Amino acid sequence: MVSVSRAVPDGQPGSRPGAPQRISVLGATGSVGASTLDLLAREPERYSVAALTAGSNATELAIKARQHQAQLAVVADPAAYAALKADLAGSGIAVAAGPSGLDEAAALAADCVVAAIVGVAGLRPTMKAVAQGRRIALANKECLVSAGSLFMDAVRRHGAELLTVDSEHSGVLQTFEHHNRDEIACVTLTASGGPFRTWSAAEIEGATLEKALKHPNWSMGAKITIDSATMMNKGLELIEALHLFDLRPDQLAVLVHPQSIVHALVEYRDGSVLAQLASPDMRLPIALALTWPARRPTPTPRLDLAKLGSLTFEAADEVRFPALRLARAAMAQGGGATAALNAANEVAVAAFLAKRCKFVHIARTVEGALEALAAGGQLQVPSDLEGIMALDDEARRAATAILARLG
Ligand code: NDP
Repeated sequence: MVSVSRAVPDGQPGSRPGAPQRISVLGATGSVGASTLDLLAREPERYSVAALTAGSNATELAIKARQHQAQLAVVADPAAYAALKADLAGSGIAVAAGPSGLDEAAALAADCVVAAIVGVAGLRPTMKAVAQGRRIALANKECLVSAGSLFMDAVRRHGAELLTVDSEHSGVLQTFEHHNRDEIACVTLTASGGPFRTWSAAEIEGATLEKALKHPNWSMGAKITIDSATMMNKGLELIEALHLFDLRPDQLAVLVHPQSIVHALVEYRDGSVLAQLASPDMRLPIALALTWPARRPTPTPRLDLAKLGSLTFEAADEVRFPALRLARAAMAQGGGATAALNAANEVAVAAFLAKRCKFVHIARTVEGALEALAAGGQLQVPSDLEGIMALDDEARRAATAILARLG
C-alpha cells in the first residue's frame, strides 16, 4: 500500500477546511458505485459529489447525478451523450462523453476519486486521477493486474494516495504491520469458493450462466461475479496484493472460507496470525478507503459470531478451478503475462455472459491466449501505457481466435 503522505486529516477535507469532501465516482452506475453513493448520501454534511461516470447507462447516470447534485456527469459511450444531455437539461450539471469526458471527470478537483469502472477500461481514467495526486479509492483491480508496476510508479511519482476498496485487501491493510514488514511470512486472501465450490469437475463442465451468476455471499456486477465463479477473481486479487503491499509471489496464499467473514490473514514469522473479520458488505471497505486512517460508523451489519456458530476453511482446488492456477503462474512469470491474462479473461467472460461459450471455456481461452503470446515472444514488460494497451489488444485478438475455435 502506498503511504498516506498527503493524507487529508479526518474532518478537515482537502484544502478547504470545514467544507465537505468532494468525491468523484468513476463507475457510479455499478455495484461499487451504488454502495459508495449510499455512503455519501448518509453524510451530506461530510461529502459532496464532484464527477459521476458510467459506461453507457445514461438514464441511471442522470438519475444519480440529480440525486447527488453532481458537478459533472460523463458517459463513456459517445452514442449515449444526447440522452444524458437531454435527461440533465436544466439541472445545471455539466455533461460530457467519450474518453476525453472520462479524463475530465478523473481530473476534476476532488478530495478522493473512487475508481469503480469494471475492467481495463478503467485504467486510463484512473491513471489520470493518479496524475492529479489525488486519493484514489481503488476497486478497479484490473488496473493493477494489467499495469501493476507502471501504476504504482505513477502513484509514487505524483504523490497520490492509493487506498484499496477490495474487501480482502482492506483486511490486509488493517492487519499489516508496516513497522514489522520484514517479519511478515505470508499474506492470505480468503475466497468464498463461489457457487461451484462443492461441484465436481464434471458438474462444472456443464455450469450454466444462471448458476454462475448466483454468488453465495456478495451482490456484485456481472463480470466480477463470473470471475468469482471461476476463481479468477482470487487470482486477480493475488496480483493486486503483490503490487499494493510490495510482496513476493511466494508470500501470497488463498484460503477458501465459504462464510466470507474473515477477509484476510497476515502471518508473522513468530507464528502469530492477525485476521480481519466483518460481515460481507462493501460499504465497510469503501468507507475505510474514504476516511483512512480514521474510522467512521458504517451501516454494515454487526458481526454476531455466537449466532454464526462456526467458520470453516478449506484449501483452494486449482484442478477444478484452473483460472486460479493460471493467474498464479502469470503472477510468478511477471512481465506482460498478467496484462495478457486480464485481457483474455475479459474477452472470455464477455463471451460467456453473452452465452457464446461454455463456463469451462473461460480458463481454456485464457490459457490458450497466454501460450500463443508466449510462443510469439509477446509477453515482455511494456514500458508505458501505450505498450500495455497494445499487449491488451494482442491478447484480446488471441482470445477471440481461440473462442472461435472452441465454438
Ligand atoms: P459493475 O458492472 O456493477 O459496474 C461497472 C461500472 O463501470 C458501471 O458504472 C459501468 O457503467 C461502468 N463501465 C462499464 N464499462 C465501461 C467502459 N467501457 N468505460 C467506462 N465505464 C464503464 O461492476 P462492479 O461495481 O461490481 O465492479 C467494479 C470494479 O470493482 C471491478 O473492477 C471489480 O472487480 C471491482 N470490485 C467490485 C466489488 C463488488 O462488490 N462489486 C468488490 C471488489 C472489487 P454502465 O452501468 O453504464 O455499464
